[in-house]
Amino acid sequence: MKTILISNVLLHKERKDVLIEGNRIKAVEPAGTFPVGDLGKKTGGAEKVGGAGKVAGVADKVIDGARKAVIPGFVNAHAHSAMTLFRGVGEDVPLDQWLRERIWPYEAKLDEEMVYWGAKLACVEMIRTGTTTFNDMYWHLNGCKRAAEEMGLRSVQSFTWLDHFNDDTIKENKKLLKQAHKESADWSPLTTFAVSPHAIYTVAKKSFRYINSYAKDNDLLVHTHLAETRAEMDQAEHEYGMSPTEYMNKLGLMSPNLIAAHSLWLSSDDIKILGDNGVHTVHNPNSNLKLASGYKFKYNELRDAGANICLGTDGCASSNNLDMIDSMKTAALLQKVWRNDPGATPLKELMDVASLNGAKALRLKAGRIEPGYLADMALVDMAKPSFIPNHYFLANLVYAANGECIDTVICDGNIIMENQYIPGQEEIFAKVQEVADKVVDYKKRKKK
Ligand SMILES: [Zn+2]
Repeated sequence: MKTILISNVLLHKERKDVLIEGNRIKAVEPAGTFPVGDLGKKTGGAEKVGGAGKVAGVADKVIDGARKAVIPGFVNAHAHSAMTLFRGVGEDVPLDQWLRERIWPYEAKLDEEMVYWGAKLACVEMIRTGTTTFNDMYWHLNGCKRAAEEMGLRSVQSFTWLDHFNDDTIKENKKLLKQAHKESADWSPLTTFAVSPHAIYTVAKKSFRYINSYAKDNDLLVHTHLAETRAEMDQAEHEYGMSPTEYMNKLGLMSPNLIAAHSLWLSSDDIKILGDNGVHTVHNPNSNLKLASGYKFKYNELRDAGANICLGTDGCASSNNLDMIDSMKTAALLQKVWRNDPGATPLKELMDVASLNGAKALRLKAGRIEPGYLADMALVDMAKPSFIPNHYFLANLVYAANGECIDTVICDGNIIMENQYIPGQEEIFAKVQEVADKVVDYKKRKKK
């Protein structure tokens, strides 16, 4: 089995040796436990060493961690990966106009190949900022899946269901869901199949019931948007006489299989429903702020009620980047200011929200640098102003740095970025520009 040793790396204020065997963490011991001699120094630190075989009989590959810290890979619990193609196209317009004039017309032009390239760019961006797993919701899921697997990332890819209350579409979606699910039997172990009813304002009541029983019968995760805007809440009250959360609860969706993105507009009854049912909620602070959806995410209340709180970026058309460190910072700052409590969302909790809790939601044993956990992790380059001095590493990571501090990323025991380089990234950049130019016609837009 392939082994990697990260020697003398900073972990929770101490220097450690982290040994990876196959796709799991095998050992975490005090630095120096696995002697590597001066081989690391000879090749200039983090370069590949011991190519001819195991180093000192310990590992196939040694990474010198002297100037680095190790953190669990981030789990981006709500993303629309291929929307990287629309980065910057819908600025400073209201949500309704954003959807009708920009996003929906552009999305109508997409095919699987375009989605594939958009998702490839998303993967590059996520890897570069330390994410090792993402929970995706987008069209042409096979394009997204192929991109994620090629880039070596773990992901949950879901069949996205919108029917706009149209019976023909509902019928067609049932067929397509079964077909996509069947095809997923051949997917790599890195990818999990799920189903995503988009939201209560785009999916019929009977569809929710069907999806729910299909997901339960097949033990699938259900990923949806819930209580994102005030308008959604008002509409539910008007049409169903209850909140979006109560409505989904009535339809039987509330369970530990549900991942509810946003969960922003909640009453105390709603919070109790989410907590009692062990629902996974995903806070997407940058998207919520940019689309002016709201900012009073009920972090303490949801946590205390028993809900699992995760973190996401949402798509690049609304949050513009996929940097989980950026999301962590915004999430923490928001809690502190709206609660008027500088102690809100302490850093250790925040780190779990961005990694361990997301892994839990996606049923993965990841999010910790401990023996037995999946070997999904990132190495932070500490030779940067943000980490000097290093009084408190997590404070430097979240409040001083951003995703560009990530140097090396390991997912499922494979090194997918080393020394900030991802093989093939130049081709991806060029190709995405080409695809984006086809989808978003600037000349035409200027004439309007
Ligand atoms: Zn979303």
